[in-house]
Amino acid sequence: MLPPPDLAELEPNELESLLSIQGAERFHARQIYRWVYRHGLEQFDGMTDLSRRLRDNLTGTLAFSTPQIANRERSSDGTEKFLLSLADGRTIESVFIPDTPVMTFCVSTQVGCAMRCGFCLTGRMGLTRHLTAGEIAGQVRVLARELDLQERRFNIVLMGMGEPLHNYDATMKALRILASPAGLALSPRRITLSTVGILPALARLATEPWIPNLAVSLHATTDTVRHLLIPTSRHQRLRDLISACKQLPLKHRDRITFEYVLLEGVNDTPADAQRLARLLLGLRAKVNLIPLNAAPGIPFSRPSDQQIDRFARSVATAGVIVSVRKSRGRDIRAACGQLIVEGGSGQSSAQRVAELLRK
Ligand code: SAH
Repeated sequence: MLPPPDLAELEPNELESLLSIQGAERFHARQIYRWVYRHGLEQFDGMTDLSRRLRDNLTGTLAFSTPQIANRERSSDGTEKFLLSLADGRTIESVFIPDTPVMTFCVSTQVGCAMRCGFCLTGRMGLTRHLTAGEIAGQVRVLARELDLQERRFNIVLMGMGEPLHNYDATMKALRILASPAGLALSPRRITLSTVGILPALARLATEPWIPNLAVSLHATTDTVRHLLIPTSRHQRLRDLISACKQLPLKHRDRITFEYVLLEGVNDTPADAQRLARLLLGLRAKVNLIPLNAAPGIPFSRPSDQQIDRFARSVATAGVIVSVRKSRGRDIRAACGQLIVEGGSGQSSAQRVAELLRK
């Protein structure tokens, strides 16, 4: 027997169809969405503007999965990390950052990650599985409810565990769910998708009716170094990645962010700064430098503040907008690349790469 449909996985139009199959009016979809996304309800019973009959009917025919909070930790800087457990017992992490300068939810798209970037702890886990659209949107639903922010403005960054473009369909569906006017009504301008830049997926993204802000993890200015840092980029050239970015339709005044993890002695030289600026010439781009969040088992070091400053100035002088990301929630391991929920391995290969790069 097929499992019942899960409300968490339904976009408004899918919910409408389902209602009409059951002989109910389609407009109830808006009411249900409002209860779920604006009021945080997890049961049909409390949806008091639906008839008792419809509520009972829905309870009998629809499942509704919501990630459960297994742990919640608060950093001294106000950042909060949520460990959420999913229907199959797998766990993921989502992070709330109170002021960047806007309130921001950092959301996961996979359990683990298949990209295996040499400096990222999540990459060590490998990929356990993709998240469903409902599990991706569900993180926002749960955090907004827990923090009582359903009626407030916040941003979403897909920078938690996982590679969003490796889980393309579920990610885009989750964004449609979150953008739905009856629900949280998040505008695409409030959502940033961070990616290593999978070329066919970027081409597909360029054809979407609405596109979130894009942050591309560049991390290197030569193919050799990039291939070593991001093993899955091995079949991709930087120039092709840049061309793919040029194909993305940008709205007036929008820019693509290029993330660049600064690793001492690996990609932080004056020549790198020059090459970085040259690569991005002619693109509506801004660079976000991310000083490495070091962790045991990560075989790289963070450059000194002075070095970081010099690199940033040099990129800026070459005419590119640049910012340095402030690390948040490091004391609770909530910072970039520190989300990990299951033991990982692969340390030796990362170590090898680090040695190669320092040569
Ligand atoms: N898979 C997506 C989202 C990853 S997390 C991507 O690759 O873009 C968001 C950013 O944090 C990425 O740029 C990622 O490379 C970076 N990151 C990963 N580990 C890090 C670490 N230890 N220190 C600093 N940034 C890190």
